[in-house]
Amino acid sequence: MVAVNDVPGCLGCDLRAGRRELPGGVIRETDHWVVQHVLGPLNLGTLIVAPRLHVVSAADLSVDAAEELGQVLRDASRMLEALCEPEQVYVCQWSHGESARKHLHFVVQPVTADVVRAFDGRRSEQLQAAMMLTDYEAPREEVEAFCERARRWFRADAGQGGR
Ligand SMILES: [Zn+2]
Repeated sequence: MVAVNDVPGCLGCDLRAGRRELPGGVIRETDHWVVQHVLGPLNLGTLIVAPRLHVVSAADLSVDAAEELGQVLRDASRMLEALCEPEQVYVCQWSHGESARKHLHFVVQPVTADVVRAFDGRRSEQLQAAMMLTDYEAPREEVEAFCERARRWFRADAGQGGR
């Protein structure tokens, strides 16, 4: 399937095109992927890794985008390991809308002991389901500060040839 470049009304496309504000701004961009902080009720530090193009299934990714994906997910996870000291970093992908598939997006989530404790010891999909039922939103200034730290980490990592 040929990817459509920009779909107004799609959250992923609206963020890319600047039609919707992204608190904290873009953390990292590669040829095919954009890394940003999540919007909505997941904990501070949770990232979204989305393709630049409006692609709604991993099956529809270009070969180049698919090859780059592993490195992008690994690097995002390494950054979260360094900054958040999580018990585990989750990487998952749902992108399942009610009426249609949504713009593909991987959630890369640093789950700390504090997060697990706050949700009565839940883990994995049970933890995410419980979090999604809340109306929590990380404070904007904390998101902005986190995104700045994340960008600094990537700059330092690149400076050290950290691949
Ligand atoms: Zn889109």
